[in-house]
Amino acid sequence: MITKRRAKIVGTLGPSTDSIEILEQLIRSGMNVARLNMSHGTHEQHKKMIENVRAASKRCNREVAILCDLQGPKIRVSKLKEPLQLKKGERWLLGYERDLPKEGKVIPTTYENIVPDAVAGARILFDDGLLEAKVLKKDSNSLEIEIIEGGTLKSNKGINLPDINVSAPSLTDKDEEDLLFGLKYEVDYVAISFVRTAEDIQKVKNLIHKQKEYVPIVAKIEKPEAIENIDAIIDVTDVIMIARGDMGVELGNHLVPQVQKELIAKCNSAGVPVITATQMLESMQEHSRPTRAEASDVANAIWDGTDAVMLSGETAAGKYPVETVQMMDQIVHEAEKHPKERPLLRYMNLSGVSSSIQVAASLIAEKNNARCILSFTESGNSCLQMTRFRPKRPVLGVTPSLRAIRRMCLYWGITPYHVLRDHGKEMLEMETEIITRLKDEAKLVKGDKIVITHGGGLFFKDGTANTIRVEIVQDS
Ligand code: PGA
Ligand code: MN
Repeated sequence: MITKRRAKIVGTLGPSTDSIEILEQLIRSGMNVARLNMSHGTHEQHKKMIENVRAASKRCNREVAILCDLQGPKIRVSKLKEPLQLKKGERWLLGYERDLPKEGKVIPTTYENIVPDAVAGARILFDDGLLEAKVLKKDSNSLEIEIIEGGTLKSNKGINLPDINVSAPSLTDKDEEDLLFGLKYEVDYVAISFVRTAEDIQKVKNLIHKQKEYVPIVAKIEKPEAIENIDAIIDVTDVIMIARGDMGVELGNHLVPQVQKELIAKCNSAGVPVITATQMLESMQEHSRPTRAEASDVANAIWDGTDAVMLSGETAAGKYPVETVQMMDQIVHEAEKHPKERPLLRYMNLSGVSSSIQVAASLIAEKNNARCILSFTESGNSCLQMTRFRPKRPVLGVTPSLRAIRRMCLYWGITPYHVLRDHGKEMLEMETEIITRLKDEAKLVKGDKIVITHGGGLFFKDGTANTIRVEIVQDS
């Protein structure tokens, strides 16, 4: 009942996960967070996916969080009549689809400011960087470009402009509609793509606030500008995603491993959960086994200290979605047998009551070999504080709030544990009831120790934990 794996698994939904049965298998195999990729599909399809996830999670009696990932200002090649053959050394015209001649060597795009934003000499990358061109000259309605790395260019392929400051807002009109959709269907996290500054996140927070809602934000780090502004971004965001796909295209893959390590270290010390994403088990889209390099990639992300690892095409469009989650679960579980050294107490900022209580509880549990920690929480925040210290004993995040339960699905090392809200009950009565339940569910025996943390006053009244107690299991 208490999950053995500590780092969490995010799985992206798509055509390969379009039934309740398959989602049920994914959840049973260990998927903790389901990601809706708003770059693909209609609201109708996403609504269906949300309903399916909720139904599947009910069937296996295990909650999962839903992450609504907004597309952001992704620039694309327009719809083409037929694929274009770009040859090295050739010159083509690139521009906004409405401004270009209909015939000749032209590449239309969906982005209306591509010409004003561009500068001579800038690189233009197509199709995840497989094709490359350079801007030679800017005309009023188009860019003259030279093909550096040729190939076939198909409709709707992505375009990355690493040398250009794109003026498009980080939140497009489509993103705003998608955000409202997500709020309506009570998603648990919202991810923002191509974040550049802390203000990008603040804007979305304000929009959510205007709707009188609260949903934590995941900032996807995939632009060089975001890496430059990372400290300010970590200050305002709830979660960071290392979006290695677009990051690799814009920065060059050779720089990604080092950026990954640096970002994870920064997030760990700030206490901000971090998701490592993209191509983790890529070859499993086609094969039932990963490559050795992929297995190492997943394990190394764990040893870097990531809170969660993510699957994209592997679950969304692959042939083996269930096997991929099982494989990831297995690799993570093995890697965690040799955990990274946790943060040194003397370097942690423990000036808050809640964070110091949580760390103390982890230490008491560890030194006394307690079976588990019960952390009573209203918002999940106490458990978030607990994960910062990477507790060695299992932690149950106990709460009557379904929203907190789902949020905690992403938190490292936390097993969310739902209880019914009962205002008539005193804290002690509640704890005793849970311990009785756990005797059965977690096979507790006489003499087992359990560490309990909770807020003051009556049951769940207070947002901040201020109490630690150790219970020793008695005969029933
Ligand atoms: P995407 O983001 O899958 O939405 O592009 C992840 C990435 O770029 O790595
Ligand atoms: Mn991306």
